[in-house]
Amino acid sequence: MDAKIENIKKYCESLTKYTRLKTREVKIGDIPLGGNNPIRIQSMTTTDTMNTAATVEQSIRMINAGCEYVRITAPSINEARNLENIKKELRVRGYQTPLIADIHFTPNAAELAARIVEKVRVNPGNYVDKKKFETIEYTDKEYQLELERIRERFVPLVKICKEYGTAMRIGTNHGSLSDRIMSRYGDTPLGMVESALEFLRICENENYHNIVLSMKASNTQVMVQAYRLLINKMNAEGMNYPLHLGVTEAGDGEDGRVKSALGIGTLLEDGIGDTIRVSLTEEPEYEVPVAISLAKRYDSRVNHEPIVGIDESPINPFEYNRRKSFEVIGIGGSTVPKVIADFSLMNEINYDSFKSIGYYYDAPTDKWNMNDTASDFLFLGDNELLFDSPNNLKLIFNYKKWLSLSDRTIGIPYFKYDEFVAASEKSFAANFVEISIYDIFRDDFTKLTNQKNVIFVLASKNIHAMPEMRRMFFEFVNSGIENPVVIRNSYHEIDDDHLRLYSSTDFGGLLIDGFGDAVWIRSGENGRIEFINRTLFGILQAARTRISKTEYIACPSCGRTLFDLVEVTNKIRNRTEHLKGVKIAIMGCIVNGPGEMADADYGYVGSGVGKITLYRGKEVIKRSVNSENALDELIELIKEDNVWVEPVKL
Ligand code: SF4
Repeated sequence: MDAKIENIKKYCESLTKYTRLKTREVKIGDIPLGGNNPIRIQSMTTTDTMNTAATVEQSIRMINAGCEYVRITAPSINEARNLENIKKELRVRGYQTPLIADIHFTPNAAELAARIVEKVRVNPGNYVDKKKFETIEYTDKEYQLELERIRERFVPLVKICKEYGTAMRIGTNHGSLSDRIMSRYGDTPLGMVESALEFLRICENENYHNIVLSMKASNTQVMVQAYRLLINKMNAEGMNYPLHLGVTEAGDGEDGRVKSALGIGTLLEDGIGDTIRVSLTEEPEYEVPVAISLAKRYDSRVNHEPIVGIDESPINPFEYNRRKSFEVIGIGGSTVPKVIADFSLMNEINYDSFKSIGYYYDAPTDKWNMNDTASDFLFLGDNELLFDSPNNLKLIFNYKKWLSLSDRTIGIPYFKYDEFVAASEKSFAANFVEISIYDIFRDDFTKLTNQKNVIFVLASKNIHAMPEMRRMFFEFVNSGIENPVVIRNSYHEIDDDHLRLYSSTDFGGLLIDGFGDAVWIRSGENGRIEFINRTLFGILQAARTRISKTEYIACPSCGRTLFDLVEVTNKIRNRTEHLKGVKIAIMGCIVNGPGEMADADYGYVGSGVGKITLYRGKEVIKRSVNSENALDELIELIKEDNVWVEPVKL
């Protein structure tokens, strides 16, 4: 552990040495969670719980993919009852995997399920408590009376869990905080934490401790802050319950994976998390490999190169604040984080090469067009361009190459630390200087800091790279160094799937704390420049630091889902993916969907078989629209708000 991480900000064992957060062990059937157990993998079925055969088959596919717990929705007493048949059939077929009942509103379903399965999950936002989007002013006395009412309804479930040895997850969701919590704490990480702690204190009073906690949100900043704050508050109350990590409504495909890896990975880097569920709008067995890849990355992390410890964190880890920096040629200050593309390993650069980074050359007009995910800078290394590059794109050359250019104003030099210290010629406007953690502790480092034309590029060879770079940022904050900073990570000999997950964590963990003014990935494999560009813009969007595309908040679907979420999400995406910055929620049911839509601008929610209800924010605009017309109606609604733009073909 670092000498001391200031107690009021403490949320992990160490900010620089990888150490799993010590939690108590919880018994869930034969697979214990927390303590010294490995990070467990879980997922949730999407079949109708009343369909025993389909649920059993899907559970088996999930288990065979590596799922260690299977969660099944039990919205009412009938589904809760049917868990018995599902469990029996799985056991007959030789699968002992613990089952979890997902409960929303109904105590009687929970109380029955707790007698059947190994774990129940309750959401304190809607178990007994209510959510009608009302703001109610409570006096302290009224608030206490409400808590007393919750206690009376919740204690029977706790007693059953104790009697049957059933575990419980108290799972708070940012999107479904009760009116009571919202009225007192607002839509905040603190509200999420208090929502869980109220239920947790009731459990502790009953001397029931077989508990796991979660703080899920679709907004990755809120999610990370809420988990950190929960740990901090638990510490203060002498509690150490294990944590279930997840990003809700992450969506599907690449965006869903980036968002999940960014939120979950950021916490895993600090040793936080005892079980993972990656929620994708896809078949649940596809979630499992993603969760396994995220968890496996930490198998041997304890062996990382040591990082200089730090006495206390100089930032508030429970609130987003961007690090203060000055601006140099569009990097830093109040500008959005920039994306740097890398052509330095390309053998031949032609007009078409630029398509991979969002620029399209139109020969008849001799003009460049660009899309919303066009890179801002291009690192050419020792390469040179034989034609004019797009105006918006700034070029970076290795220092010696830059010296050899006939017109040095077309580019910016890139220095290694020692090169910069020794260089007699530098650019008046801007110089990129690569530094490692060793450089910032050198005596001559102060000569470089706060020079108004220096942009630092952080690089790390440590396998614990994100915390090492964060340590560098901490040093900058502590020493008042305000140069803009590029985060550069290198990935070699890993496939695209792993590169996407790892980079989301490595950049996301810093961006979420307000660190980083530009991002850059180096990869030896030449062919994936377009993939890397897309991934970097995806990471910035998932960290909520630069919005370049439509955001889809799609529920992962479950036994309640009223339409094919994958198909419908794809249809909606095909027509709306050019609406930069618009957030569209696609939710499978009206029971929980509206509560889980978080801060979406529009909602497309299943409200009956073949029926959709459309929302503007939290307000219902059209009820029970036929599903064949619902997408057109959604687009009409977006047009009414003057948010619609016609797609542009490049
Ligand atoms: S919103 Fe989606 S995942 Fe949540 S209960 Fe409804 S259908 Fe299931």
